[in-house]
Amino acid sequence: MEIGVLALQGDVKEHLTSIKNALKNLKLKGKCTAVRTKNKILDVDALIIPGGESTTIGKLIKIYGLDSIIERIARNGVPIMGTCAGLVLLAREGDEEVNRIRQELLGLMSIKIRRNAFGRQRESFEVDLKIDVLGEEPYHCVFIRAPVIERVWGRVNVLAEYKNRIVAAQEDNLIALSFHPELSNDTRMHEYFIRMIK
Ligand code: GLN
Repeated sequence: MEIGVLALQGDVKEHLTSIKNALKNLKLKGKCTAVRTKNKILDVDALIIPGGESTTIGKLIKIYGLDSIIERIARNGVPIMGTCAGLVLLAREGDEEVNRIRQELLGLMSIKIRRNAFGRQRESFEVDLKIDVLGEEPYHCVFIRAPVIERVWGRVNVLAEYKNRIVAAQEDNLIALSFHPELSNDTRMHEYFIRMIK
């Protein structure tokens, strides 16, 4: 199996390392690759859209014409995990600022998001959260200028909340996380994602 990390901007390397460690822990053979071309994206068995700057990543997705390709693999059931900026990009609805600047979103998941919901860089924080799909032990979550999910509808399942705000959700083959699993040493989130590959 091959897991791709969309490598236009953001923390690509950290996801590649986490996936490698997760594959090892699951005793699975596979590789993970930084991807940025249409053909390569069509080739992978799962795709991660990393954290970074969602306006930049969104613009580059559009410039390289990758939006229709990502939409196609999503429709085909390929697991896609968006973390932080990646969560923003997966959303169907954004906040007032997203609308004002006409930010490009992929619009794949039935969620409404708010960017920078916990404030600016200085308000970044770490917290252990209980995430049922990862088991009993709390998961260490790193939030950096994090967005939150304000509303979910349709087939979306809430996976985690922090202070009554939704910070993780799943809609079938799509996962959106406010925090950065690639910055925690715990590989359970990436393992959960890999296990979604059919
Ligand atoms: N606030 C950023 C954005 O909306 C996301 C921050 C991050 O990915 N660490 O693009």
